[in-house]
Amino acid sequence: MKNVVLLGSGHAHLEILKALTTEEIAKHRFFLVSPSRQTYYSGLIPRLITSEIKDEDLAINSADFAELKGFKFIQDEVESLDQVSKTVSLKSGKKINFDLLSINIGGTPTSIPSDTPFTNIYLRPFDEFMPKWREVQRICNACVNPRFLVVGGGAAAVEVAAALRIRLNKNQAKTGEVHLICKSSRLCESYPQKISEQIRLSLLRRGIKVHLNEPVNHIHQKALKLSHDVNLEFNFIFIVTPTQPSKLLFGKVDSKLRLSANIFAAGDATEMIDHPHLPRSGVIAVHQGRHLVQNIKDALNDLEPSNFRIPAKQLNILIAGEDSARLVWGNFSFEGKWPLRIKNWIDRRYMSGFENVK
Ligand SMILES: Cc1cc2nc3c(=O)[nH]c(=O)nc-3n(C[C@H](O)[C@H](O)[C@H](O)COP(=O)(O)OP(=O)(O)OC[C@H]3O[C@@H](n4cnc5c(N)ncnc54)[C@H](O)[C@@H]3O)c2cc1C
Repeated sequence: MKNVVLLGSGHAHLEILKALTTEEIAKHRFFLVSPSRQTYYSGLIPRLITSEIKDEDLAINSADFAELKGFKFIQDEVESLDQVSKTVSLKSGKKINFDLLSINIGGTPTSIPSDTPFTNIYLRPFDEFMPKWREVQRICNACVNPRFLVVGGGAAAVEVAAALRIRLNKNQAKTGEVHLICKSSRLCESYPQKISEQIRLSLLRRGIKVHLNEPVNHIHQKALKLSHDVNLEFNFIFIVTPTQPSKLLFGKVDSKLRLSANIFAAGDATEMIDHPHLPRSGVIAVHQGRHLVQNIKDALNDLEPSNFRIPAKQLNILIAGEDSARLVWGNFSFEGKWPLRIKNWIDRRYMSGFENVK
């Protein structure tokens, strides 16, 4: 019997929990370590912001799911790992030995120095975002014309800005403002230029103010200094900048998603040696998780794991308005009602995979 330890219950490890059978799990000692018994599904965060759904609608009871399958769940946080003694040290002071380890603890958010940290809302990690979001709602119910700033320029930042705008419109706060502050010269740089421009124009049409070429290095007392001496005051500032690979990892993963012979890693925490520009997304984490299932089985049977193949194109659907979303598939992009229907169907199907523990 081997000790198989999964660190973090991110999107990749959820795929492992789903795919392994109770018989396969019973052959070894499987552990899942995570600071929370729940995992939040990022695809539904925009709909939480628009207030279409509640906290519990995007929470997956990953600990219950793991225990049902025969894992031992440990509610704790990994602090360090020693690959020589094959031990993981946890925040509580406990240590766990492993024969095989898999790491899926998400990326590290890039923090921005600030004079007023209370009004800074980091979207990651979601465990910290959720209580902060409740606080924003409580305070902003009393705001007359709230002004929200969103820092970032990727798909997640665009969606957060669109969702905040929808939320203000619904709350009859049409005069409230949403600004998107992006350090690059265009939004969603991983998409073709033409699509970036379509996204920018769509945001403008919906009343979101877009500021390009504006790197944010410091947040002053409830105000952001932009170029040309613009001083933008705000009620809350949402930080949706890309995450960095986790410092816990001592390198990049190879094409088999391995850090070393008996340590795998996946998702936003990692970087692949051969694909340094692979986007950090839930879609990629899910693909990697599905691939890890077989690689873990192979490693347990002393077989050589196989290479992870990156999907040629990834489907992205971004919330745009109350009844519309933008679909992006390679060079193709379309905004309208049916992308929103597809997105809702994908989200429902994803969450239904965990329904028996809801
Ligand atoms: C607003 C928003 C919307 C998004 N929408 C989409 C989308 O529609 N589609 C898409 O593809 N991507 C989307 N993303 C990106 C997506 O959220 C991430 O890429 C994805 O969550 C990464 O998954 P992961 O498996 O790496 O880990 P995560 O899902 O980030 O999970 C990490 C897990 O590790 C645990 N953990 C953290 N630290 C430790 C530790 N020290 N020890 C043990 N456990 C730990 C956490 O509690 C958590 O359970 C969105 C992001 C944001 C911010």
